[in-house]
Amino acid sequence: MQRFSKQREAILGNLRSRYDHPTAEMVYMDLKQSFPNLSLGTVYRNLAVLCESGVILKVGVSLDGKERYDGHIQPHAHFFCERCGAVYDVTEHLDVSKIEKELGAEIHYASNTLRGICRECLDK
Ligand SMILES: [Zn+2]
Ligand SMILES: [Zn+2]
Repeated sequence: MQRFSKQREAILGNLRSRYDHPTAEMVYMDLKQSFPNLSLGTVYRNLAVLCESGVILKVGVSLDGKERYDGHIQPHAHFFCERCGAVYDVTEHLDVSKIEKELGAEIHYASNTLRGICRECLDK
């Protein structure tokens, strides 16, 4: 196990504590209070290193065109909302009607990546 810097530990800890598959900007916004010297570029660099080390994953690009990251690396699928850009974990695998019930969503496409409209957007 390689040694991680304090900032890198904090970035990893932040990713592992959340399930919203944040962008680099979202991680940066969370951590800049505790690390006033942190820059967005540093967050990007550390995310790249953590991905290469295999301790986090890139899950794909959402609506805003920005890469989303996941601190939970056990195999699971993801649901991307086409309306709000939210990314949810899917624990059921490829049983689409079950997944629609789990998420309260409408699923349009399925592989390891599912796309459609999330419950919050459908409720609007
Ligand atoms: Zn949505
Ligand atoms: Zn995930």
